Amino acid sequence: MAELLKGKPIADKIKEDLKKEIEDLKSKFGKSPKLVAVQIGENSSSAVYLKAQIKNAENLGIEYVLNTLPEDTPQQEVEQLIDDLNKDEDISAIILQLPVPKQIDAKRLVNLIDSVKDAEGMHPSNLGQVLLGKWSLAPCTASACLTLVESTGIDLYGKEVVIVGHSEIVGKPLSLMLLSKFATTTVCHIGTGERGVLPEHIKRAEVLVVAVGKAGLIKGEWIKEGAIVVDVGINRVGDKIVGDVEFQEASKRAAHITPVPGGVGPLTTTMLMKNTVEAFKAQKAKKII
Ligand code: NAD
Repeated sequence: MAELLKGKPIADKIKEDLKKEIEDLKSKFGKSPKLVAVQIGENSSSAVYLKAQIKNAENLGIEYVLNTLPEDTPQQEVEQLIDDLNKDEDISAIILQLPVPKQIDAKRLVNLIDSVKDAEGMHPSNLGQVLLGKWSLAPCTASACLTLVESTGIDLYGKEVVIVGHSEIVGKPLSLMLLSKFATTTVCHIGTGERGVLPEHIKRAEVLVVAVGKAGLIKGEWIKEGAIVVDVGINRVGDKIVGDVEFQEASKRAAHITPVPGGVGPLTTTMLMKNTVEAFKAQKAKKII
């Protein structure tokens, strides 16, 4: 039976270290890191993440400001706000809450955030650092997955890693992070699924990360004996939240498996806080130079 790979204990340890670091930074610079969230309209699907951000920031001593703009705010106005936030030296990091209303071009907004204030690590220049194998601000969910995998103590060198899902927030950056660890990395996606060859990739995965958003897509019987399974998917089935992997069956074969909820989620918010602190430090270091 697989060992549960829970996010909370790992997140708690990272946050304990962050809290100390933030206290030190505060006594050194007389200021705490400050994270500003930009939300356009209110969206129930991001409410849980938003609540977690506010709670985590408060517990850690990170100043958190939520800017909620009306649902019909024009693109130009949000761009102006981001420009102002970029220029404000008191602000360490900025996050654009997704999803955004249809008149808003989210990608353009993310590109406008100053790359040193990019709390979610989604600015092209930060993604470029991930490609180059040396990053300080990386996409939070991808970092969360890597942290979970590494928490098992596995040496990724040469290991067969299969990622299902090639989104810009999870699969793509995670594949680059794993390559920089010399894992043999395969990325599957809708094309792989529709061709009917998902099982043959998954069956050889010593590490499997699934980020699709389809309950039960990954059958338990496909899991390799002793695999590490990280299930990023969040799906509502009736009154339950489940992942993309058939949990019960997969647990009989895997060595480690994340629960859903309680696996990747708690670490994603922690990575956002970590990025905020990294951003603050990078900005302060620049000043001293
Ligand atoms: P996305 O919709 O951007 O990407 C989905 C990916 O799945 C794509 O690469 C697509 O090609 C692939 N896909 C779709 N159907 C497939 C199939 N039948 N076979 C193989 N691949 C298939 O998704 P995303 O934003 O990366 O999110 C994925 C899931 O992870 C969602 O359930 C989301 O809610 C969840 N998520 C969780 C966290 C967290 O912190 N726990 C963070 C982000 C996303």
